[in-house]
Amino acid sequence: MARFDGRVAIVSGAGQGIGAGIAERLASEGAAVGVLDLNAAAAKATAEAITLKGGKAMGIGADVTEEDAVEAAVNQVVSEFGGLDIVVNNAGITRDNMLFKMSVEDFDLVLAVHLRGTFLLTKAAQRHLVERKYGRIINLSSRSALGNRGQANYAAAKAGVIGFTATAALELGPFGITVNAVAPGYIATDMTAATARRVGMDPEEHKAAAAQSIPVRRVGLPEDIAAVVAFFASEEAGYVSGQTLHVNGGQR
Ligand code: NAP
Repeated sequence: MARFDGRVAIVSGAGQGIGAGIAERLASEGAAVGVLDLNAAAAKATAEAITLKGGKAMGIGADVTEEDAVEAAVNQVVSEFGGLDIVVNNAGITRDNMLFKMSVEDFDLVLAVHLRGTFLLTKAAQRHLVERKYGRIINLSSRSALGNRGQANYAAAKAGVIGFTATAALELGPFGITVNAVAPGYIATDMTAATARRVGMDPEEHKAAAAQSIPVRRVGLPEDIAAVVAFFASEEAGYVSGQTLHVNGGQR
């Protein structure tokens, strides 16, 4: 029997990148996956790729900052797959700039997607998890939570995710629900390619340069994060809660 047979998962921002990797990993081990993304076509493409490999998934277009859309997406997954067990808050954006040049709109938007989005999806999902007295919630933080030049908005949001995770773990623990966070370092996706272009570098060059400062001498891949999320999502991780695990190739 596979690790997630009979389990139902929702992964936000799973139209591409790390989220798609997580959705594929959970599905490959038996979970039925609700693939959420702002881009409905991308969500459907990830779900279709999973289905083609023999897995179970449905793609849903939803903006995690909109309460009604999040509620509707959760209800759709629950009614289609018959419940909910695993929630991965992965949707994210960057709007990098030095503090003195950062617009209020870019500050608010980044906080809304990461923090309000994590709050809304967790809130909509928790009542289904509490009902079943079982759940696994995994939130994406970042190494940038420790501070990163040009990312005052993103660093604040990702530090906020750590506090949110610790608090949700306290409140939901009595209902058999664990809440943990993963804080990735450099994971090669469209997000890091955009960062490379912002600093005037070719994405491949940027990856090679980054690898030099990472102890394991390579950048991460979505699969590296998916493997850790799958551990937190597993039944056997039931005594691990309120934690943030840094997954960054050994950087300090
Ligand atoms: P990505 O390739 O840009 O993917 C992020 C996904 O989230 C996109 O499909 C995006 O859709 C979706 N999204 C954005 N805003 C949304 C919203 N309001 N509602 C629903 N979906 C939305 O980024 P990634 O690198 O895979 O990052 C995934 C997560 O890991 C993020 O939380 C990120 O902050 C975190 N992380 C990444 C790294 C890294 O090195 N890559 C490091 C640390 C943490 P659209 O394409 O339509 O905008």
